[in-house]
This record gives sequence, C-alpha cells and structure tokens, in this order.
Amino acid sequence: MSTPLSVLRDVFGYESFRGDQARIIDRVVAGQNAIVLMPTGGGKSLCYQIPALCRDGVGVVVSPLIALMQDQVAALTAAGVQAAFLNSSLSFDEARGVIQQARRGALDLLYVAPERLLTDQFLGLLGELQIALFAIDEAHCVSQWGHDFRPEYMQLQVLQERFPRVPKIALTATADGPTRREIQTRLYLDDAEVFVGSFDRPNIRYWVRPKETARSQLKEFVKSRAGESGIVYCLSRKRVEEVARFLSDAGVRAVPYHAGLSSSVREKHQMQFVRDEVDVVVATVAFGMGIDKPDVRYVFHYDPPKSIEAYYQETGRAGRDGLPADAELLFSTADIARNRQLLMSDDADRARVDHKKLDALLGYLETATCRRKVLLAYFGQTLDEDCGNCDTCLEPKVTYDGTVEAQKVMSAIARTGQMFGQAHVIDVLVGKATDKVKSKAHDQLPTFGVGQDRPAKSWRHVIRQLVAQGLVVVDVEGYGALKLSGAARPVLQGERAVELCEMRKTVSKKKRAVADSLDDEADLALFEALRKLRKELADAQGMPPYVVFPDKTLIDLCQRRPTSLAEMSEVHGVGQVKLDRYGEAFVDVVRSHAG
Ligand code: ADP
Ligand code: ZN
Repeated sequence: MSTPLSVLRDVFGYESFRGDQARIIDRVVAGQNAIVLMPTGGGKSLCYQIPALCRDGVGVVVSPLIALMQDQVAALTAAGVQAAFLNSSLSFDEARGVIQQARRGALDLLYVAPERLLTDQFLGLLGELQIALFAIDEAHCVSQWGHDFRPEYMQLQVLQERFPRVPKIALTATADGPTRREIQTRLYLDDAEVFVGSFDRPNIRYWVRPKETARSQLKEFVKSRAGESGIVYCLSRKRVEEVARFLSDAGVRAVPYHAGLSSSVREKHQMQFVRDEVDVVVATVAFGMGIDKPDVRYVFHYDPPKSIEAYYQETGRAGRDGLPADAELLFSTADIARNRQLLMSDDADRARVDHKKLDALLGYLETATCRRKVLLAYFGQTLDEDCGNCDTCLEPKVTYDGTVEAQKVMSAIARTGQMFGQAHVIDVLVGKATDKVKSKAHDQLPTFGVGQDRPAKSWRHVIRQLVAQGLVVVDVEGYGALKLSGAARPVLQGERAVELCEMRKTVSKKKRAVADSLDDEADLALFEALRKLRKELADAQGMPPYVVFPDKTLIDLCQRRPTSLAEMSEVHGVGQVKLDRYGEAFVDVVRSHAG
C-alpha cells in the first residue's frame, strides 16, 4: 500500500505536508472520522484525496457545486488519478458510464451532488461498492443559519447510519463555533476529531484606501497589474456594468458578471476568466462561489463588503496558490452611510446583529493597527506579531489630536443648519465663496474659512473619520446632509477629545506578483514563454491553464531551469503522470532559453 507521503510526492508532485494535513490524513487512513476547518486555499482537498488513494475502494466526495467538481476531476485526471463526477450536467449515458466504472472498481474518487447521493438508487449502488471514505465538502451547507444552506445536507446523516464503518471527513472554510457544532451533530460525527487550521492567509496583502477618484484609482491599480487575473467587486448590477465598460474603454480585458445577465453570458465570461482569455471580472458578490481559479492575483473592492465575514470570503478568492496576492478596498463616507441605510430592518434582532457586524467592519476599515490582527481577532484567532503585509504595517498611520479639526467641522455643520452635504460644508470650511455659499450668506458666518489650513481633500478625510466614529451622521434620506449625532456635543463643548489619523501621501505602486520571485529579465522572459506553452497545451485539451501546471510550477521552472526529465521531476507540482505528459515540452522551452 502506498503511504501518504509517497502519494503526495509521486502523484501530486509536492514535497511535504502543510499544517494539519499529515495528522488529518493519518486519521482518515486509519478509518476514523474528522472535521476539518481550513481557510480557502489551505489545502483541504488533499486531506481526502490522499486517503482515498491509500485505502482500498473508491472515495465518495459530496460536493454541492458543479463547477468545483468539474475542476477537481480535471485536475485529478491530469495527475493520473481515476476520478469522475455524477451530477445534472451529465447525459444519461455518461452517468451510466460512470456508474459502470464504479462497479468495476475502476475509480479512486467519485464526486457526487448531494441530491443524487440521497436517491435510493445511488444509496443502493453504494451498498455494492467497496468505499474508501466519504468526504463531505462545503460541510457548512448543513447550517440552516448560514448563507449557503442546502436542505439535502440535513439528510447526510444517512451516511453514518448506513455506513458506520467507513471513515468520514467533513470540510469547510467557515470558521465559527456554532457552524462547527452543527456539522458535528447533523452529520452524526460526535466522535470526529476537529481540526481548526489557522485562518491567516499570509500571502494576501490587505490594503484599504479612502475612495477619492474611484475610477482612476481602480484604473491605476489594474494597469499596474496588466496580464494578471483579478476580480473587482461592486455593490450593484448597474455599477458592475459601468465599471466593466469603463475598464474595457481603458484597454483592459474586462467582462461583467451579475445575476441579471443570462446564464449563457455568465458562463462564457467565467470560462474566459478561467482560461486566461480576459484578465478582470467585474462582479457583484454573485461571482465567486465555485470559482476554483488558484491564480487570481487580486480582489479589488470598489465598494465595501457587508461584513468582515463577507470580506474574508471575497478576498479569500485571491492567491489560493500561495503566491503573493492583493486585497484592495476603497471606501467613502457615503458608502458607510449607504450600508447603514441598507440595514433598516423591521426585525429588531436582525437589525441589531447587522449593525454590530457593520461596526466590526468599520473598526477594521478605520484601524490604525495591523489589519491582519483585527481580521483574525474577529475569528477568534491571534497573531503574535504584526504581519508586515498590510497597509497599516507597511505605511503606519500617524495619529494626532484632532479635537480642533472635529470642532471646526461640527460647527460648520451646526451653523449651516445641518442641511447641507459634505461638499458645501467643506466650501464653508476652506472659505470658498461659491454662488451657493453667497446665496445662503454662509460667507458671513464666523466659521467661514476657519479650515483654510487644510485642502478640501484633507477635510474629506477628517469627515469620513468623524462619520466612522459616529460623531457625524449622513442623512441619506435628506440628500446626504451632514448632521451631528448626540455624541458630538461633548466634543463641541471641549469635554471630549477626538483622535484622528493623518492622511497618507503616497500611493504604493507594486510590481507584478511573479516579479517578487523572479527579478531577472531573463527569468521573466522564460516565464512568459512557459506560460505560452501552458496555454497551448491547455487549449488543445480544452482545460484551464492552471490544470496543466500552476504558476508556482512555472516559477520553480524558471529558478531551477531543469534540462533533463530527472531534473524536471524535482520541480514543484510535477508528479509522474504530468512528467510523462508534459515534461519534454517544458524542458525544451527551458533549453531554448539557456544561457
Ligand atoms: P482548499 O480546498 O482548502 O481551498 P486546495 O485543496 O484547493 O485548497 O489547495 C490549495 C492549493 O494548495 C492547491 O493548488 C493545492 O494543490 C496546493 N497544496 C495543497 N497542499 C499542498 C502541499 N502540501 N504542498 C504544496 N501545495 C499544496
Ligand atoms: Zn499587518
């Protein structure tokens, strides 16, 4: 029998296990149950794929997402594993073919949708097969309180009832305690050992910026990453369309994605993205579930997300391959006000929870400490040291006593009658005698021009912080008029100080992610040549490029420059089957770039 380590090396081409992988795999190989909580990209799949290859029989994987199943099966097949799926995308004959393969014992892994698994017919088939294990992927779908609830998942306890001796492994990227307990009870896995991995995604660089000239900020960022894959999230369908058009007009290969588009258009755009034929998908949060593209290099929030959970999930789609990736976010005072507005719910309990979540998100956006620490603390995990890979670590915020600035803003709001929006209030502060200012005689106010020491941009930054701190509120129904909250009075009366942050001056410009690993021109040229070969091979087989090899393999190829198949086999992600299938072609390209 092959050992887990030999399978890891020979089939998957990886050197060593990560985190809890080895312990989890040993447990399942030994026939025991496990519950695995690991962030996206943490390496959950190997936790059931390797035991399925080490144990006799077929590993049955329950998965709710058709696209994910297809991707996994394509990747496994490319690595020489006998894998197949059963879901509604197959014709009757195709499905029958898969079932025959299973009966013959010719499958190592069989992916199946939960509704199919639960049919009498399929459960009957399972009774005839030798089963290595059951893996229940996206196990948080059992939770009635979660966003991804699937009623069929509630019935999966039948697996433990009917097949008590077959080991079961339930996996999810959802971290919280209640969900974990629900998985345990609903699937009857009380005896399962629970493995909670770190939710840190160290390769993701978190960066939060004030929204100034949103479009040019976006354009500048996307252009600095030309040729890399990214997702841009927007709040609404309308905004998705506008931003996608804007980027296309600016020469970026970008497509829109939202629930208002026909399913054929959505599929086409997703396919183009997965096959590296477009670089950017501009999307609502409808895009993401079921996208298994490991080399998404950035996620750009053009509008802020709804909560920290949503942010973590959405940004988590970047950098699944472990290479450097960026999570960029823009937000403005108006965005915060709009998010609050959206929470006006009739259900008082719901509203209280949602406001708490929004407060937590604001705390994250406005923090002056390491963002990763704040993020992980939200999930109950701690980080001993500052991460050194977020904006607050890389460009520490400078705080100052902003009581006087706060008072100036508040008095301008109060004296103009709490009826005007940010632009007008700032005109009064900086002493700009616009027609509107003159017509209201606001140039006669004692506050007129008291803020001349700062540019308008800096006042916008001050106001945004006052809104975030709850001292100033934006009246969305009153056309965005700024008003004072109850907490403003002690500040105006000099009884309470306000701490503010200085605005950052620089906009960091970064290089492409691969350039972090490859700084030499010759290496970069080789990387592009290898990428081209990968795309050709992938197209010839109708597969996404990353199924041939991930970027990490291409980078390792540039660094090691193997000139023989023996050397090629040492490269990251090169198992025996891929070595046989692609080795020569890649070694040839490396040779042709020698010296
Ligand atoms: P998850 O299902 O947890 O989101 P995956 O199983 O898709 O994550 O793994 C993410 C990436 O990490 C994949 O490209 C996978 O091949 C790679 N990976 C997983 N485990 C290892 C390992 N031990 N060594 C190297 N790469 C690994
Ligand atoms: Zn940090």
